[in-house]
Amino acid sequence: MSGCLTVVGLGPGDDRFLTPEARKALASAQALYGYGPYLDRVPLRDGQARNPSGNRVEGTRAQVALAHAASGAHVAMVSGGDPGVFAMAAAVCGEIEDGPEAWRALDLRIVPGITAMLAVAAKAGAPLGHDFCAISLSDNLKPWELIERRLDAAASGGFVIAFYNPISTARPWQLGQAFARLGHHLSPTTPVIFGRAVGRDDEAITVTTLDKAAETPADMATLVIVGSPETRVVTRNGQTPLVYSPRMTAPVSA
Ligand code: SAH
Repeated sequence: MSGCLTVVGLGPGDDRFLTPEARKALASAQALYGYGPYLDRVPLRDGQARNPSGNRVEGTRAQVALAHAASGAHVAMVSGGDPGVFAMAAAVCGEIEDGPEAWRALDLRIVPGITAMLAVAAKAGAPLGHDFCAISLSDNLKPWELIERRLDAAASGGFVIAFYNPISTARPWQLGQAFARLGHHLSPTTPVIFGRAVGRDDEAITVTTLDKAAETPADMATLVIVGSPETRVVTRNGQTPLVYSPRMTAPVSA
């Protein structure tokens, strides 16, 4: 039997967000790999081996799963959200590039999922209705100076910006510094959305402005969206304000 590796996106929360394609890929796998809390979200099936690992061992986890698939097994690797967005699909591709020839011959499939940015945007209205970008604020895998350069470029380019990995106990100051940096380019009233644990029971959406954003609590389960100069807020009685970026942007003046 020839093996295969499927990298499956679970979406942001519970199994309402699992696509039919992802469900099928998970059900047919003989062995599952992934970060423990993500594996816990996968419906149990008898006879399927589960191999949880910590969240800092992406390369090793990819190697073990690739070696298992190369031995002839049907292996699935799970990721929260979409596996291609700051997640396992790139780690798997990296190991395939650097690893033995047999890994390049494997049947590799990547099954997309709903990424956190889209789930948070949908809860808030349509903040990504016009040009946007996504930046991971984690400086574990890239230097902080590069993040600052990208913040300047994104804000001066007029993009809405989604921040993944905004803060953690090991990285407590980066989010505040990012807001301060954006404050050099954007109005203090620029809308900022905090979406926490979207798609789960403890989901919370907060809409604030750039000048107050640093006071708003955030953690590793939070995704932050900072509006562009075009992003608008519509207040509604008894409901979270609607945040959207209009489809049309005014012509650039000469
Ligand atoms: N592959 C994932 C992202 C991994 S990076 C995806 O496509 O969504 C991890 C970051 O994603 C977190 O720090 C947080 O910023 C964001 N995130 C993941 N799940 C989330 C959720 N349910 N609600 C809000 N943000 C989430």
